[in-house]
Amino acid sequence: MHKKLLTSIILFSIMIPVSSTGWNDARISAYYSVEKAVEENANIILTWISTENIGVTEEDLEYLKELKEEANRKGIKVIVYLAPLEIQTYNVDMDEDGKVDEGKKSIYTEHPEWLQVGEDGRKAVFYGNVAFWVEKHSEDAWICPNDPEYRRIFLEEVKKIAPYVDGIYLDVVIFLNSFGDWEDNYACHCEDCKRLFKEEKGLDIPGKNDKNWKIWIEWREEKIKEFLEDVKREARKVNPDIKIILEHWHGFYDGFKTGWSINLRETVDIMTHEYDAATYDLSLCDFYNLLRDVAILKFYRDLDREKPSWILSYSVKETQSLLAELILETGCNLYETDYPDMEGSADLQKRKEIFNWIKKYEDYYYNTDSIADTAIFYSKDTVESENGDIFFKEFLGDSMMLLQLHIPYNVIFSYDEMDKYNLVIFPYTESPDMEKIEKYMENGGKILAMGKRIGDSYYKPLGNMYISKTAPDFWEVTEKEDPSDILSEFSSIVKNKLFYTDASEKVIVLPSEKNDKVIFRVLNLDGIYPDNLKQRDTDITIVPHFSFEKIDKIDFIEKGHSLYIFDRKTVDIITNEYDYPSAEYLSKFLEENGIKTYIKSDIDRKSENIIVLGGHKAEKTGEITENILNSEEKKNLEKEGYKNIFCKKKNNQKIVVVAGNDRENTKIAAEQFKNRILRYFENIKAVQIELDDFDIKDLDKMKEMGVNTIFLRVFDYDEGGVYFRTDKAPVIKDLLKEVIREAKKRNIDVYAWMTTLNMPWVLKEHEDWAVLDNEHNPNTNWYERVSPFVPEFQDYLISLYRDLASYEIEGIMFQDDLYLAENEDFSKWAEEEYKKEFGKNIDPENPQWSIWKSQKLLNLAKRIIEESKKVNPNLKFVLDTYYDSVIDVNDGIEWFSQDIVGAKEYFDYFAIMSYHRQIAEENDFSIEESLRYLEDISSRARKILGDKAIMKIQICKFDTYNILPDSEINKAFFSIFKGGVPNICLYYYRDDIPFELFKRYFSTAS
Ligand SMILES: [Zn+2]
Repeated sequence: MHKKLLTSIILFSIMIPVSSTGWNDARISAYYSVEKAVEENANIILTWISTENIGVTEEDLEYLKELKEEANRKGIKVIVYLAPLEIQTYNVDMDEDGKVDEGKKSIYTEHPEWLQVGEDGRKAVFYGNVAFWVEKHSEDAWICPNDPEYRRIFLEEVKKIAPYVDGIYLDVVIFLNSFGDWEDNYACHCEDCKRLFKEEKGLDIPGKNDKNWKIWIEWREEKIKEFLEDVKREARKVNPDIKIILEHWHGFYDGFKTGWSINLRETVDIMTHEYDAATYDLSLCDFYNLLRDVAILKFYRDLDREKPSWILSYSVKETQSLLAELILETGCNLYETDYPDMEGSADLQKRKEIFNWIKKYEDYYYNTDSIADTAIFYSKDTVESENGDIFFKEFLGDSMMLLQLHIPYNVIFSYDEMDKYNLVIFPYTESPDMEKIEKYMENGGKILAMGKRIGDSYYKPLGNMYISKTAPDFWEVTEKEDPSDILSEFSSIVKNKLFYTDASEKVIVLPSEKNDKVIFRVLNLDGIYPDNLKQRDTDITIVPHFSFEKIDKIDFIEKGHSLYIFDRKTVDIITNEYDYPSAEYLSKFLEENGIKTYIKSDIDRKSENIIVLGGHKAEKTGEITENILNSEEKKNLEKEGYKNIFCKKKNNQKIVVVAGNDRENTKIAAEQFKNRILRYFENIKAVQIELDDFDIKDLDKMKEMGVNTIFLRVFDYDEGGVYFRTDKAPVIKDLLKEVIREAKKRNIDVYAWMTTLNMPWVLKEHEDWAVLDNEHNPNTNWYERVSPFVPEFQDYLISLYRDLASYEIEGIMFQDDLYLAENEDFSKWAEEEYKKEFGKNIDPENPQWSIWKSQKLLNLAKRIIEESKKVNPNLKFVLDTYYDSVIDVNDGIEWFSQDIVGAKEYFDYFAIMSYHRQIAEENDFSIEESLRYLEDISSRARKILGDKAIMKIQICKFDTYNILPDSEINKAFFSIFKGGVPNICLYYYRDDIPFELFKRYFSTAS
């Protein structure tokens, strides 16, 4: 309701490329200059002409025409401000006696029948400073939209203006109620209104206590709506693309008093919500006022649904960024100005920065979808009833508590929207539609009725209790009591099942979805006090309950707001129409397990994860599988009753063919092998098992935790033997067999973690086979290894691994003893081989030597892998990898003779020993620094190794074996995810690990 008087200047500016602009991603500025708008990254110009309703001049039209042409060339839209029902006549009360001076003409003197009339019979005309936008010598007259003559004249004006603008911005389209010296004086009782109401409803206009009062209130809303519809229709006759934008003052609880209903969002194209966020005055910025602002802005956003929510709100220099953060957090559009003018700015330079930032990241704010499974019901009927106040406080209090508790919710306005949610909260609600509610509950929906009985649930009016304690106030900061008892009662009945966060209750986390991304908008209101903003970084952890590939964090230009963006793991399911039911079956199963799916009819080359239904003979999909399956697989598929899945990798695509001999068998394959299909696409969620701390019963706990892979130690240095059946090494016990059997029952993959060069039982018999340093001392480095250059040992190693490969294991992990230090190996075998190849002695200074060594180790690994695969062709191989080799590939070669780039060809995974405590010690880092460093390692690993990278997380101190604090482990996870590696292995499993913490990260199914 704040308006700006005009001056008009047209400026021209240099050409810049047209940027994408729309209504949904609007950045609104009130300007007369295209040049300024371009410079400040606005894409909507709101402007004024010499009149706000009738009497538009040729100059006005010329101004609009030129402004629009110029602006549109720069991708900017122009909208014009009109206030159809309020007409000021200037300088008609120069003596300030509250009436028109003798001999002067005004709207009141010329058209008294146009004016609105209050319930008390007064006409709506005011003199003096009735509002800040009215000059003291002006007359301020309010016109009834039901006056046919005025309406006709105004609509003609609209048609004149419409061709020269992209939108019309309408303000104060209301029946007066409280304005000037009118106190709850309901308009309009003019002759036109009396006549129309009688004609349409057969009634006289009722009084407040009359049973027909509500009929009249709704009729007024209807009349405003019809007026707006007329404006829209007439404007579109001359400009079919024009948008009608309606400014709406607060409106969340008293709109009905002025006929300015929230339902007008259906009539107009865009609502601009004028709302006094606490930011208009620094002294009002306390936590609960700002939290209320988030709740109200969220309400607006949900109200407008697919249409944008423009917010006209005010700030001062200190709060300008904070206001932008509030608006962005809720996905609304910023119309930046200072209080109380519509044309102004708290700081133009800052506006420019803010708009520029929004422009860059607008994708994460606009046209996103909700992922909330909780709804709160806004009952317009109840707001307009005598218990409106109880309802509104309950609604607001419940909303604020949901925000504090990080429970994603949407505001819904109709019973038909309930079906999309698991839980619907009804704040104190009058005359609920029990039939629809009961049907919703029959379909499994849950109802929470706050403070009033609906269906089976009954609760205290916690929202009202919360509001009376926290006392959010628009005009001052009032004394508060701690509401945590209420908050904790509320949290015992409403839960967030969509994600975990360690954010405090002063940090707002709102998720939304767009394509394959889930975007968490985070707003930190901690550290904000009246007159003192000490906003803090949004340094929090978020763990969603779905599978993801990657996390990004983007910070706003100021502290306090960030975006956490998760790239979801997605799988395309390719099917023909016959196998469609199987596609749906798999889609449902994968979605339940946190993977997003798309059912398609053809392969998208950009998709990374693909399921194809049907073998090479299947209609349509057969053309795809023809090239994927080998001849043996095809031959099998031609056997009657045959069914299987085939996991393939082609370029960078993971493809699973699910096929049977016929349609029926394809269906059976989908059902029978669904867990194996899931496993192929799932991230690795592994634990590494040291045998001292392992009991076979622990597998149950791991299963519950969400572990899908174990790396089981199958050797012991002290006892000098192995835990699998072989005649080539001392067998301590055939534990592997037992573990495989039990793990299979629990759908957990077993990898045998096996030593390579460090074999005490071999060294015992062949002391002279040891790795030697440059002074020919045996094993001066960490591990006591056999030289990899001993041919006999190489053969021995291969035969031992072949025995291991004969088990039904998923794969083998090489212990981190497959290395040679900088000063190794000077055994006679190494020296001889080097001399044979290069014709000279080893020169430790020559880099060629370390390259040669790493090549030799790689060749040995390759031989082991190839020979093992002859026994068990599907075996996967994992290399225990030093983090140094990831940070700098050349360091890895020089220090450990570990060439991970070369190894990529042979190994399926690299388990990177990113133990942050150890890293801190080695590099003299603080623990914080080391945790941040994990992000670098992870990001390097992702780059070099892609989805072959697994990051290991240290869970205890390696000296005292004490478990590390939860907060530290949380940070380690999050750093790694931010770096881009989603595959995790805990080092190492113990029965006293923080079970709930790991469960949070490992169990993706909701
Ligand atoms: Zn009227």
